[in-house]
Amino acid sequence: MSENEGARTAGPGDAGSTDSGPLAGESHPAPGAGGRKPQIGDSRPAPDLGGRKPQIGDSRPAPDASLTGGDQGGDQGGDQGGDQGGGGGESGSSSGRRRRRRRGGRGRGQGGGSQGQQSGGGQGSQRGRNRPVEAVTDDAPVELDEDTLKSRRGRERRGKPIGRYMMCVSVSDGVTQIAVLEGRQLIEHYLSRPADDVSEIHGNVYLSKVQNVLPGMEAAFVDIGTPKNAVLYRGDVQYDEKEFGGKGRPRIEQVLRSRQTILAQVTKNPIAHKGARLTQEVSLPGRFVVLVPNSSTYGISKRLSESERKRLRKILDRVKPKQHGVIVRTAAEDITKEEIERDVRRLLTQWNEIEKLAGRSEAPSLLYREPEMAFRFIREEFNKDFRGVVIDDPDMFERVRTYVESVNPALVDRISYHDPEIESLPLFERHHVHEQLRKALDRKVWLPSGGSLIIEHTEALTVIDVNTGKNVGRSSLEETVFRNNLEAAEEIARQLRLRDIGGIIVIDFVDMEIKANREAVATTLRDALARDKTRTQVFDISDLGLVEMTRKRIGEGLLESFANACADCGGRGVNLDDDLLAGSGRAGRR
Ligand SMILES: [Zn+2]
Repeated sequence: MSENEGARTAGPGDAGSTDSGPLAGESHPAPGAGGRKPQIGDSRPAPDLGGRKPQIGDSRPAPDASLTGGDQGGDQGGDQGGDQGGGGGESGSSSGRRRRRRRGGRGRGQGGGSQGQQSGGGQGSQRGRNRPVEAVTDDAPVELDEDTLKSRRGRERRGKPIGRYMMCVSVSDGVTQIAVLEGRQLIEHYLSRPADDVSEIHGNVYLSKVQNVLPGMEAAFVDIGTPKNAVLYRGDVQYDEKEFGGKGRPRIEQVLRSRQTILAQVTKNPIAHKGARLTQEVSLPGRFVVLVPNSSTYGISKRLSESERKRLRKILDRVKPKQHGVIVRTAAEDITKEEIERDVRRLLTQWNEIEKLAGRSEAPSLLYREPEMAFRFIREEFNKDFRGVVIDDPDMFERVRTYVESVNPALVDRISYHDPEIESLPLFERHHVHEQLRKALDRKVWLPSGGSLIIEHTEALTVIDVNTGKNVGRSSLEETVFRNNLEAAEEIARQLRLRDIGGIIVIDFVDMEIKANREAVATTLRDALARDKTRTQVFDISDLGLVEMTRKRIGEGLLESFANACADCGGRGVNLDDDLLAGSGRAGRR
């Protein structure tokens, strides 16, 4: 599903569309202060008072504690990547029925660039003077002719929509959970607390203040108004080509200084003790294009055919604002000029509002807030490969439906409401999400032939142990082990994605004698991981039969979002016998 969306290989342009998808880093809950695990009910972590001591596991040393707020280590690169959009794919529709079209869309959405003032009810009109700008998700649909709508409708069988994927959105107690099913199998799960402006900030734009510049780390700590400072690396700093031209990228201390006010966008949520990651190159994702203000960026998704790219280039030549860059996403395929134009204008309005707000704000302050998770997911992923989106919250349902009607009207019928009052089962039970989630929180995972996986987390890495267990095979030991390892490789890829496990992962497959078998297992693992839109890297099997791999770290992980460390043992799993240790074991017990 991954693709290269345009000219740039990485970075801010992919806000909302990094290689981890729309939910990049946003799916999991607030990091706690220090080593404390996030807990349900946390809305904002307590600020760290005073300088935090460096800890084992920090990828970068803590800066001088005497500098205000410069209290967290950063995160080392490794999280750049391509972009992906909707899968696209099959076309055509068996449904020829007429569609009711809402009148009155014209003018509001299409009338000459003044969309800002008209951008609507809902979120738009609630904007106070210094409220952060929000993406418009409720403007009226672009009027499309019947043939266009027909061609965009998904496939149906006997009047029922068909598609590989389905999405269930469940809202309760201020927590939104999204479950993505492939067939009936749960493949991804995201959790968010929409009210959280501390940990779920990916894509947000801030007027921020540089706290301290650390030449030795080629980074700066930046105050964005959250308890933890964010970090801006040299590679994400914008500088004047004329001033530094020809000499390569300037050193960070040549461009930034303490107390300086800068505009910056979050490209990665804060995770655990690491602060959010920033870029100075802002980009605003729309449904069909990404606007990169004050940039020469120009790109059209390479996943599109040459003729389609040509058509889009023509449209872009007319609608692209001169001083801004634009990236056209895969979702723009077969999209009309009017719709693309409107997407560009919508983003332009957003950017103008952001700039205006920046002009009257004082750092640090939030200028632009990304829409909540369900919208981001739909913006990035929803297409006719989804047979449906079922939502159990009436308000969320209405808003999502309105949004889809405005950006993807041909598929609006695929958004449906699961009414808890009428339905006999809760949404997640109805689609067997509950039981699959529970299994995904277990240490042990059974394999089809009786083998198993044990998944263990340590501070620095995740270890997966493969066992043959009850799998006794049929022909030879080598064959049994080989078959078992193949099953394990498939299941491991699935579990990593579902559990959202990131960082270093070490897999201990059962020993195989035959080299070709070892290679086949590694290949199977790589192929299975290719379906994961989060970037992974697999190294060759070592002499001891271990496979080392990495997976980009997005959120805290599924387990962390549902569990707390055991209070009795601190999560270690054992309790020490203090009496015995104190030497009073025998005397005390008499
Ligand atoms: Zn315990």
